[in-house]
Amino acid sequence: MGSGRGDRNVPPPVPEPIGDGVVDAHTHLDACGARDPEVLVQVLDRATSAGVTAMVTTADDLASARWAAWAADSDPRVFAAVGLHPTRSNDLTDDARAAIEDLTARPRVVAVGESGLDDYWTTRREDCAPLDVQREAFAWHIDLAKRTGLPLVIHDRDAHDAILDVLAAEGAPPTTVFHCFSGDVALAERCAQEGWYASLSGTATFRNANAAELRRAALRLPAELVLVETDAPFLTPHPYRGRPNEPYCIPHTVRDLAELRDEPAERLARISADNARRAFQLAEQPQPSLSVARESAQ
Ligand SMILES: [Zn+2]
Ligand SMILES: [Zn+2]
Repeated sequence: MGSGRGDRNVPPPVPEPIGDGVVDAHTHLDACGARDPEVLVQVLDRATSAGVTAMVTTADDLASARWAAWAADSDPRVFAAVGLHPTRSNDLTDDARAAIEDLTARPRVVAVGESGLDDYWTTRREDCAPLDVQREAFAWHIDLAKRTGLPLVIHDRDAHDAILDVLAAEGAPPTTVFHCFSGDVALAERCAQEGWYASLSGTATFRNANAAELRRAALRLPAELVLVETDAPFLTPHPYRGRPNEPYCIPHTVRDLAELRDEPAERLARISADNARRAFQLAEQPQPSLSVARESAQ
């Protein structure tokens, strides 16, 4: 169970599926190496073996948005979110806007994003768009979500108050998701009030001091607004922090959060999957129940 330095490159074990499965509400398949079609199939099959029935692969630049839409068309387990990551807001030219807007018309593109504000990389990476440019791009993504009727996937890093300001000024789309929710109890209560979804990632399973407030916040989220995500290849859940992350790892997060919320893992898996289907209007292909699939595989 050690997650010491020696284990760094060792992928976490593939967990047992939970109940009828889990939906990974936010991942980056291309960043997991899945631009190689063979790797894509391996990543998806590993996810299936862990009971992950569907996932939303999310773009961070235009090439990634095009690839995400392609991946969603290529496999029924994959859905796509398209947009430009806030750190890349400098690239939101007129051509990029038109291209992203075109992609939203594809039936398996189920969300706009990830967009929002990132005030972490602004001071750490020279090519990160400044906050005023990010804000303008965020407003454009909000408007696009409203015009297309798609949910908006928000990236909020060190920017809770500024995000709330922009949402108040522009008006939040009817379906709004805080991906990799990193808020405190106050933001959790605000989400509850507004009916905004909060997607919990591996960060909510961490045991460091920063995670303590996030874990308190996770307890305040109403069940009907909780999503779970890997944000792979980053943010591998406890106790595998620092190792490579993939959609198959999501049951580790669900089990940890279910324990925190003092509820059966099956319940959190089912409710969060239902929430994801509702939020993103996922048209999942009917599939045999996992227990049947496991039996016939034996
Ligand atoms: Zn993000
Ligand atoms: Zn992401």
